[in-house]
Order: sequence, then C-alpha cells, then structure tokens
Amino acid sequence: MPELPEVETVINILKPLVVGKEIQKVEVYYDRLIQSDLDEFKVSLINKKITNITRYGKYIYIHLSDNLVIITHLRMEGKFRFLHDKNQRIKHTSAMFFFKDNTFLSFDDTRKFAIMYLTNEKDLPSVPMIAKLGIEANKVEEKDLPTLFKKFNKNKPIKELLLDQTILCGIGNIYADEICYATKINPYTKGNTLSQNQIIDITKQAKIILNKAIELGGSTIHSFHPSEGVDGKFQEVLMCYGREGHSCPRCGTRFHKDFIGGRGTTYCPNCQINKELEKAIGITGPIGSGKSTALNYLKEKGYRTYSADDIVHELYRTPYIQRKVSAIIKAPFDIDNKELTLKARKILIAYPERNIALQNYIHPLVEEEFLKILKRDDCPIFEIPLLFKAHLEYMFKTILVISISKEQQLKNLMSRNENIETSKKLNYNFEYPKDNKKIKVVEATGNFETFYKNIDKALD
Ligand SMILES: [Zn+2]
Repeated sequence: MPELPEVETVINILKPLVVGKEIQKVEVYYDRLIQSDLDEFKVSLINKKITNITRYGKYIYIHLSDNLVIITHLRMEGKFRFLHDKNQRIKHTSAMFFFKDNTFLSFDDTRKFAIMYLTNEKDLPSVPMIAKLGIEANKVEEKDLPTLFKKFNKNKPIKELLLDQTILCGIGNIYADEICYATKINPYTKGNTLSQNQIIDITKQAKIILNKAIELGGSTIHSFHPSEGVDGKFQEVLMCYGREGHSCPRCGTRFHKDFIGGRGTTYCPNCQINKELEKAIGITGPIGSGKSTALNYLKEKGYRTYSADDIVHELYRTPYIQRKVSAIIKAPFDIDNKELTLKARKILIAYPERNIALQNYIHPLVEEEFLKILKRDDCPIFEIPLLFKAHLEYMFKTILVISISKEQQLKNLMSRNENIETSKKLNYNFEYPKDNKKIKVVEATGNFETFYKNIDKALD
C-alpha cells in the first residue's frame, strides 16, 4: 500500500502531466469507485480544468476550476496512468478522464479498494473521511504536542496507534516499523506508558524518515513513470521493515516479526527492549566452567531453571528438525545415538560453514522456546553457553558470566571424561561484551562453597 512519501511521489509525477488540462468527459467502469453521487460526478467534471494536485496524509486532492475538488485514496493498488491512446485501457481500469487535447488519465485498481469523492473547496475540510484525520505525520509542530499526548494516551500498542490516521496521518505499516526502530521503542509498548519525551521523539523521527523518503522519491522521479507504480523505490533506505531473520545493523540481533493488531511487524528485540520480557537470569561462560553446577545450585534454591542444551536436545528429537539437521550437516543424525552424535560433532568442527548454518537454524527455535517460558514464568533461570553469540541479552535482567582459570577448566573437563581437543574447539575461549551493565562476573575458582557464595553475592 502506498504511504505518504509514495503518494507525494505520485503527485509529483502527475502534476506536470495533467495540471492545466481540460476535461472533455469522464467514463466510470467500476461504479463503486465513486463514493459521492455518480451521475453528478460525471456531469460536473465536463469542461473543468485541473488547476492543481495536492495531498493530505494519503489522500490526494485533484483541484479543478469552479472550486471543485476530487478526493481520492489509492488504498492497496490504485494507480494513475497518463495515456496518449485511450485504447491502452486495461481490464482493471476503474475510470478514465478524457482531456480535450486528446490525452487521457486512466485510473486502474486491481483490488478495487480505491475511492474517489467529488466535493468543493469550501466543504472539503468537513467531508467525514477528511474531517477525522489527525495532523500530518511529517508536519508536527510544538503547538500540536498537547493534543498528541492526549491522543497517544491509550491502552493500545504504539504500532497500532501509529497506524491510526486520526492521531497522526500518513503513516502505514512500513514507516510505523521504521519509526519504532529509529526511536528504539518496542512496537508492543502501550501508548499510555510512553513518556512525553518518547512521543516527541516519535514525531521527530516521523518527520525525518518521511521527509527523507519523499526526497528520495523526488530524486528518482525522472527514472520511472507512474504506470510502473512506485513500489520498491524506497526499499534501499529501510532499516528494519521486511528484514525479519536478518541481523539488526545496530547490534547484530536477529530481527523478529510478529503480528500486532493483525499487521506484520518487524523489530529488533535488543534495541527495542520490551521491559515485560526482560526478567530472566542468565548463566553463561566457557565450556567446563561450571555453568551446570551453578544452574543445579539455583534449582535447589527453588528457582525454575532451564538449560539451552536440554532444550536443543528436545528439539533435535522432533522428527522434522532431525531431518533438517541431517540435511544441514550432510550426514545421518540422531541425538540419542552416541556414535552418530560424535560423528556430527567432528563434521561440525571440520566444516565450520555447516556449523554456522546449523546455528542459524537452531538458534531461532531455541529463542522461541525461551520466549514461551518467559511468557509464563516470573524469574526463570536460563543456562545458555552461546548467550552472547545468539544475541539473547534482551531477555535478561541479570547475566552471570562464569569466569574460571584455564588450569581449573582443564581439570573440570578431564574429570568429565570429555575429549579435550574437541572441547577446545567448542566454546573453550569465551568472550563477552565488557560494557553490558547486566553482566555480573562470578569466579568459579576454589571449592563449591566459595562458588555458591559468589553466585549468591552476584544475585543479591
Ligand atoms: Zn538491534
């Protein structure tokens, strides 16, 4: 669906083509396109001259002589085509304007949701579909803010409120996602929990993003014709919309896509924190550092504990996942078969690109499982060896990073009968972002008593 910048571009293309033209007649092929009186529409437009084309939000105003105005909304697929030959009418043409100089303006609409409505300049502001519109999203001024604070004060996700044309007008699905991403506001955030500063930020970013898109549309105007539509011209500047599954350019976390109010919504769960999800305690650290010991200790203290390894094992047992993993590592795979599991490990070490492909497949599935737990548990504890590599920081209020001396680590691995060489290639050296304020380093050197004390201290 065209949004404000696309509509602006359509106007910029149409204006030089049709302003000044005199209408000889109008033919309407799909009656329901015309929302005002159909006969009056056809009769009144004869001999009228197009004087200007303007826009409010996503509504296009075609201004005519004698103070007439056609309001039109392209909705999903509406498109104008300027023609030199009326025979270029197509199956989806809903109406055709015949000009006196033997040129034509065709209005095509495959989905048939577009509308036109004839009124005059004086009545235009009070036509119901126009009267209810909010301020244009790229033109908010300081004096509009008090009204906006009130209008945003609703118990609904900001994503839905941004699409509500009676609050800000001109924003559709694409730019709603872009504005949330730019302001680092999670799209689920309820309007009535936003601060005034956040709302001011939304209006500032809306202005920047929409005006940039308008400018880009303007700069590429000459390279395309209205008949080709305007889809895709702004795709290159979109930071977030349509990028689900890709990494956030700001932080590397995988973009999520959910449906909010029935509309597909893409966001970065790490940059656009949802405070309601930020409630788990994470345990991470290198292999053989004592993560499981820490998890068991906390389990005995009464916490609900979950290990990423257990979740992964459970997933691997699902038949379709088992088949997929087998296809990725290019070998038979069965997590309950020791021999095959060992072989799989060796393959992953020998072919790092298969290891990466496997991680890219399995991490989102594990993440989904954790999200399910977060929705039902208040303070779950997750043990996740690759917490930072998988960019799952956003789920946690505290992350315990277990730190251990190399000497002790080797001792631990040997006591477990682990293959040291294999272990060294799997999460042996461990790095973590030193500037993350959620991180608490827990020393695992010394006896269990000291280790447990260190954990208690970190969680205090
Ligand atoms: Zn991010």
